[in-house]
Amino acid sequence: MSKEKDMIDAIAKVYRPHTGADIPILVFRAFRHFSANYVKEMLGRGANLVFQNSGRDFGHAVGEMLKKPTLDEYLHEVTQFVFNMRVGRLEAREVTSSRLVLGLDECITCAGMDSIGQRICHFETGFVAGVVETFVGEKVRAFESKCNANGEGICEVTVEITPKLI
Ligand SMILES: [Zn+2]
Repeated sequence: MSKEKDMIDAIAKVYRPHTGADIPILVFRAFRHFSANYVKEMLGRGANLVFQNSGRDFGHAVGEMLKKPTLDEYLHEVTQFVFNMRVGRLEAREVTSSRLVLGLDECITCAGMDSIGQRICHFETGFVAGVVETFVGEKVRAFESKCNANGEGICEVTVEITPKLI
């Protein structure tokens, strides 16, 4: 079992008999956006990588749990997971042997926010990269190609894959 999966098992243990396992999205966003500001202040452009790599680890752990023999079935499982966890509504927009484009509507981090003129969903981008990496068994390049926070109405992640692996 991977260290990422061990981490998920550890943090999934919740004992909050009165407060439960769900939190309002404002709490998540406060943590997410205030942290991002401080990490950016400390690391400059490297901050994005911190969030992207964290998302990647999460994507690896989730990918391990949801693994299926075909990419279609796998993406279906991942999409269901993302919806059930209320991260957003993930949808494959383009699937070719070298490129995947996935829309993330109702993004947990930024849906509904006013435009700040930046693409900010590095954790989500890393997550998508991580789940794809688990399927193809190799590191992939991923970037956020659209973002609500950039006034583009939806978030979208583009993943570039080595063709022979799919
Ligand atoms: Zn976004």
